[in-house]
Amino acid sequence: MSLEGKVAIVTGGSRGIGAAVAASLARAGAKVVIVARDLPRADATAAALRADGATVVAMKADVAVGAEVEALVDETLGTFGRIDVLVNNAGMTRDGLLIRMKDEDWDRVIEVNLRGAFLCTRAVLRPMIKQRSGRIVNVTSLVGVRGNAGQANYAAAKAGLIGLTKATALEVASRGITINAVAPGFVETDMTSPLSTEIRNGILGQIPLKRFGTPSEIAAAVQYLVSEPAGYVTGQVIHVNGGLWM
Ligand code: NAP
Repeated sequence: MSLEGKVAIVTGGSRGIGAAVAASLARAGAKVVIVARDLPRADATAAALRADGATVVAMKADVAVGAEVEALVDETLGTFGRIDVLVNNAGMTRDGLLIRMKDEDWDRVIEVNLRGAFLCTRAVLRPMIKQRSGRIVNVTSLVGVRGNAGQANYAAAKAGLIGLTKATALEVASRGITINAVAPGFVETDMTSPLSTEIRNGILGQIPLKRFGTPSEIAAAVQYLVSEPAGYVTGQVIHVNGGLWM
């Protein structure tokens, strides 16, 4: 499933799931732009992939800031001349029970996980519509479908991302652009590493496959959705969760 000649932007590509997605797209031949706020960290991830012969660059942007997203897309077009793939993967949590949730914790989680995807999608759609082709994959979460106590802000953002996926998929299907979502369950990354052993064991007890997923198992679903054979798939949510939710 070659992506030779394609240009991909992966937000939050410096670590975790995003880094695995960037690596898998680069291995398939795509030129990849890794986006994060911590540029040295993103640069290190890009450099490791370049050492394997891939074309990968790092760019600094906060996906929640419109001007930074516009600059990122302009710089990508200036560097590579086109954008074929966008993976809206940047995300974060600020957990707490809703009754005690601070306004800023609600706002920031919505801004990064949902507004960020909106801003990046709007910015790349212009060149994709001109090209009459493009693939967008939004990394949502099982929590956006099933809910999770202590994550009302994150669940709302990730559920919103599914609505964004479907509405936008309808708007641009006639232009040869597909938009889908991948919904991971629990994956071993910096996001889940703070979980206590007790909580982790509680979750493991509910996962039929009895383990957390790996970033590369999520990247495999993204890779399929941006590949040629997935050209007839749009507006869908692919669940990768070890059977935790069916
Ligand atoms: P992670 O290890 O915490 O990595 C998050 C990535 O997003 C980093 O590259 C981070 O870089 C970037 N990021 C965060 N805020 C950003 C912002 N405002 N602008 C640009 N980049 C930003 O997270 P992960 O576990 O790989 O999660 C990746 C995606 O999968 C997220 O959308 C997450 O919600 C989703 N997900 C994860 C799990 C899981 O179990 N891990 C489950 C379901 C869904 P900087 O900090 O340098 O900006």
